[in-house]
Amino acid sequence: MNTSSLTPTAASRRIVVLGTGGTISGRASQQGDNIGYTAGEVGVAQLLESAGALQAGAHTLVVEQVAQIDSKDMSLALWQQLAARCTHWLAQDDVAAIVITHGTDTLEETAFFLHTVLQPRKPVVLTCAMRPSSALVPDGPQNLLDAMAVAGTAGAQGVLVVCAGKVHAARDVQKVHSYQLDAFSSGIPGLLGVVEEGRLRRLRPWPGSAEDRALQNGAGPWDLTQEALLCRVLHTAVAAWPRVEVVLSHAGASGLLVDALVAQGVQGLVVSATGNGTVHSELQVALLRATAAGVRVLRATRCTFGQVLPTAVDTLPDSAGLQPLKARIALMLALLQEGVSVPGGGVGGLSAPDSSSMASRRSE
Ligand code: ASP
Repeated sequence: MNTSSLTPTAASRRIVVLGTGGTISGRASQQGDNIGYTAGEVGVAQLLESAGALQAGAHTLVVEQVAQIDSKDMSLALWQQLAARCTHWLAQDDVAAIVITHGTDTLEETAFFLHTVLQPRKPVVLTCAMRPSSALVPDGPQNLLDAMAVAGTAGAQGVLVVCAGKVHAARDVQKVHSYQLDAFSSGIPGLLGVVEEGRLRRLRPWPGSAEDRALQNGAGPWDLTQEALLCRVLHTAVAAWPRVEVVLSHAGASGLLVDALVAQGVQGLVVSATGNGTVHSELQVALLRATAAGVRVLRATRCTFGQVLPTAVDTLPDSAGLQPLKARIALMLALLQEGVSVPGGGVGGLSAPDSSSMASRRSE
């Protein structure tokens, strides 16, 4: 990991920019090729320079290249490392915000993971691009500038995603288009805001604010305590993190995959269910067998919009509005917090941030 400080002005507060790769840092051999590129080639410092983002107004920038990957290959180890870097930087009094450059493919998963484990009182803004940096008209530079603008907004907090002039909350954002620049949606809850000429127009409360909490419909079938969870995330070897898989309910579904996963020692299952959380009868029988064997099972809807509404005849709990991929992360983290781990997965994780820095982060 490479850390450098870029000081465009004599500023007193810092914005930390963490690079992880993605199309935003992708390069194609032919200019104008928007799809035949390699993700994760251009360093984050160079991205900032080409976007003209080094003149970040009142802030000094700190730049760290945490990884350089195509986000389709995102790993638990990199999530653990990102959680550690964010924890470190958020604890510094003079750090106002973190911006993370990331691929679009798993961006919603990383955003939700960080949202759940950090619950930051400062902004952690993920941004991305649908076109590589070598495109004739790349979208990354504007997204990066917009992300910096949101990061520098007074009072901003929570894990946010900025793409195509739109600001999304980590809990709601989903990639919904495979090619268009405006690839993300926040569905029914809607956008957190929009960025216009470098200014945020906010439409909803900041994530984690009292107003936002009042709008959420409960904690879900888990009880995540942020501080305890973060300690587990940082100090448990990722090989030991509970194994949670997603299975799909579809026409002609059977219990084959569920039975195989249970035989392999899976600890949690999320069923991506039809409509209002309905599950093919054969799959349902296998999921009930899994529950009886001690596997934690949740139902989430495979519909793009909406959430499972509980009924009197439910036999399996629902994900309290989380879509399947996010329900998987929440369940994995809930099990991790409960001390469930993959047998023989080891215990060592990253070295601990000192307790005083954790306390100062919480007291903001
Ligand atoms: N495969 C790329 C990634 O997720 C796609 C992108 O960034 O748009 O890293």
